[in-house]
Formats: sequence, C-alpha cells, structure tokens
Amino acid sequence: MIIAIDGPAGSGKTSTAKLLAKKIGFFYLDTGATYRSLTYAAIEGGLSLSDENSLLNLAKNLDIRINANEIYLKGIDISKKIRDPLIDKNISTVVSFPQVRKVMVELQRKIASEGNFVVEGRDITTVVFPESKYKFYLDADPKIRAQRRFKELKEKGLDVDPEEVRTDLEKRDYADKNRTVGPLTISEDAVRIDTSTLTIEGTVELLARHIESKSTDHSSTK
Ligand code: C5P
Repeated sequence: MIIAIDGPAGSGKTSTAKLLAKKIGFFYLDTGATYRSLTYAAIEGGLSLSDENSLLNLAKNLDIRINANEIYLKGIDISKKIRDPLIDKNISTVVSFPQVRKVMVELQRKIASEGNFVVEGRDITTVVFPESKYKFYLDADPKIRAQRRFKELKEKGLDVDPEEVRTDLEKRDYADKNRTVGPLTISEDAVRIDTSTLTIEGTVELLARHIESKSTDHSSTK
C-alpha cells in the first residue's frame, strides 16, 4: 500500500511523512533525496548540469541505497551533503529533463514496491503513484515555508542569509510548478492540508484520520 504526499519545499511533508510512516508501521521514501543524490553525483563527477545525455547515463547507473534517514552513493553516506544549499541552487535544471525523470520515477517505483510505503515528493500523487487511494497535498504560507527552511539550515550549522533562502525557495517553487514533465500540481482527488499553523504531530494526526476514514469507507472506489 502507498500513501502519496506532494507539496512544495517547506510545507512540512518530509517531517510529516517520516512521522506518519513510523506511526502506522510503513517504510518511508523521500523522492527529493533521490533527485538530490543525482544532482550531487553530477556535481561531484564534474558533469555539465545542462547535458541531458550525461545526466541520463548517470541516472541509469545511479548506485544509491536509501533508508528512512540515510542515503548512500556507491556505499558512501551522502545524507548531509545532499542537503547543502549548493544542491538547492542546482537541482532544478537536473530534474527538468523528461528522460531523466522517467528513469528516476522507475527507480522510485522499484524501491516502493518492496513494502508498504509513505512516499513524498512533487509528482507522487500525479505521476509516480497516481492510482494510490491515499493522496495528500501539503502546503503552507510561502513566508512560513522560507522561515522553516532557514531554521533547518541554521540548525545544521550552515551560515545562511534569510533573504537568500527565501529567493532560492521562490525560484525552486517556480521551477517545480512550471516544468513540462512532473510539475508540482494538486491532484484532483488529493486532500489539501495547509500546515501554516499546524505542528508536525497535528498534521500527522489529520492524515492518519483521513487514512482511517478512507480505509473503512467501502463505497469509495479509489
Ligand atoms: O523535497 P526536496 O525539497 O528535498 O526536493 C528537492 C528538489 O527535487 C525539489 O525542489 C524538486 O525540484 C525535486 N523533486 C522533484 N520531484 C520529486 C521530488 C523532488 O522534481 N518527486
């Protein structure tokens, strides 16, 4: 079974998805981490980020191992490195190529075929698992999302400028919503939740309630 969650950066979907997975005994997949790893590998390998063929080749041979908290590239733990603002600044180009996305979507489906998963990203409810019975779209006020991202980076000890964090987030939002393949959109049948004034626990509670009511609703076709 798949619980699909989409939403923009800073909407709380990563923390929510992780806690929800723990609460209901599911595995958790952060698809953003797969795209971040690809971007990291491309930068490390000195590839041109606008060279679709090289990126496609890299994606096809991407040797990653992922669990709830860590991600390994060729056996090396890159969990912290993929959260660096350098990745935020460069990722939008890498994820814009349709063929590259196709390969990554296959990888994500393969990982999630191994059990019950809470999967989060930008195109999970629309492209990766459109058939899922449980679809959520998390959102929050852009100012609050930028504050959350700033706090997250600060807590990691990074010396970041709040204005720059806000601008980077806006640019990523724009790129995510406007790419031709797998853009961030609200699936018609997704439950939309504004997390601006909610805690993570409160958000998880809401999702869990929706899941429970849908599980017992036998009239529902989806
Ligand atoms: O979720 P996170 O912010 O870590 O994702 C990083 C970037 O990866 C996003 O800005 C987006 O461009 C890309 N992404 C995507 N499709 C997904 C998940 C993430 O294009 N399913």
